Amino acid sequence: MARYTRPDCRLCRREGMKLFLKGTRCHTEKCAIAKRAYAPGQHGPTSRKGHKLSNYGIQLREKQKVKRIYGVLEKQFRRYFETASRTKGVTGKILMQLLERRLDNAVFQAGFALSRDQARQMVSHGWVYVNQHRVTVPSYLIKSNDTIELKVKDKGLELLRQNLKLSADRTRPGWLETNAENCSARISKLPEGKDITLPIQEQLIVELYSK
Ligand code: SF4
Repeated sequence: MARYTRPDCRLCRREGMKLFLKGTRCHTEKCAIAKRAYAPGQHGPTSRKGHKLSNYGIQLREKQKVKRIYGVLEKQFRRYFETASRTKGVTGKILMQLLERRLDNAVFQAGFALSRDQARQMVSHGWVYVNQHRVTVPSYLIKSNDTIELKVKDKGLELLRQNLKLSADRTRPGWLETNAENCSARISKLPEGKDITLPIQEQLIVELYSK
């Protein structure tokens, strides 16, 4: 499966905001946004001074931001959008719900991983079981009442315990209940608009794709 392999911090710098792609590092002074809060590239901090984005530019940046947060490439993102637009309801909200329902996102939100990227690796490496069945597809969509369980031994278990400790202060979304004791989580309901607190204006993405 194709995926973005260049440095994550470039993505935050391109969007001009922290996207929290690297776990604990994002909360330290090592964060690239804290050190160089301008777009990457050879022209340095002055290259975009006074540069005003067009409407299209604003919509495009919003889409890129969401893709980068969830680690999804264009083709797959487009498929999410098409599914959302065919589904009854507000397209932007459904789009965000689909992304939030990804298994790698649920593993991250439950606190087993410190970033969505790390969660994706856990799923691909076969650590994650949904309703007792191993699932190795990070884009698998979780459903209400599903149970997610992480089964690992030794060093893996040590890593999980450490991640749960480090993520203990993070606000858990209302749609899942984590049981740190046995490394599992239950999906109590599907994520809704108010559960998704990312600074995203999904309507801009709908406008972009509706042109
Ligand atoms: Fe983004 Fe985290 Fe890198 Fe900071 S450390 S630029 S928040 S990925």
